[in-house]
Amino acid sequence: MSLIMLQSAILQSSIKDLIEKSTSNLSKLIELYTLYNQPVKIIDDTLSEIIGATMNDVLCCGTGGSGWDNSDGGECKNSSHVQSKFCAGCGEKVTFFAVNCPCCKVSTEFKASLSQKNTTKTNPRDGRWGINAKSHIEYKDQLKEYRLTLLEPTEDKPTCRSFRFRYWVIGTDSEHLNRYATAQLESQKSNHINFQPLKADFYLSKPVLKFDGTLNVLEDRTEFTFQEWKPENTIPEPIPEEYQGKDSLESIQSKKLEKNRGKTGRKKLGQSK
Ligand SMILES: [Zn+2]
Repeated sequence: MSLIMLQSAILQSSIKDLIEKSTSNLSKLIELYTLYNQPVKIIDDTLSEIIGATMNDVLCCGTGGSGWDNSDGGECKNSSHVQSKFCAGCGEKVTFFAVNCPCCKVSTEFKASLSQKNTTKTNPRDGRWGINAKSHIEYKDQLKEYRLTLLEPTEDKPTCRSFRFRYWVIGTDSEHLNRYATAQLESQKSNHINFQPLKADFYLSKPVLKFDGTLNVLEDRTEFTFQEWKPENTIPEPIPEEYQGKDSLESIQSKKLEKNRGKTGRKKLGQSK
């Protein structure tokens, strides 16, 4: 075994150990929190920052608002698709893991949004990574990369105890993200980018997958197994078929138009005022 392979194997086992130790109590937490209609963070932001630090053999930056999350200039963004749902009976917002509605105590039917007519979809799966466009542009020379983590339930059922967890990196040389941040900063609206995992902007930004695994919540512990482990990877994710042909410049232009048009008086592209 070469030294690089050995180092990679040690790192892999550190990540597994870190995730398992930090989540070992989940089975009990899910049970207890759900009684009180309190959501459970399967992998919280704090842990995602430690994962980012471990992957790069650096430290977190302690408390306080300034600077990036990891000491090498890595900024960690964590998103979860373990999301709340709405009771189809009483309309209250309840947690992902609720089998019976904790509010009306009657309903076992749920929906992803209040306006939804049926109960086919129970999970919005629209969690975001919030990226600050102002910091991105102003402090870009101190930013190394974004370290993005996404946790997804393997099925949208309250009994689900198996979760897919992925870690990607997007570098500061990402043409699309830089263009997006610049457009956002120049707009009159907020400087906040609501960056959606697994959508067009994500793939256009050239995310590089470093690992993909499954966290299984067992009775008295958790178990994390890797489907992919490639910390040395530098090749961006392939763009899925549905987003192929999407052009970075065009997509940012259409966002700008969307903003300028505002909420009222929508006009078709090219139409005069
Ligand atoms: Zn209810």
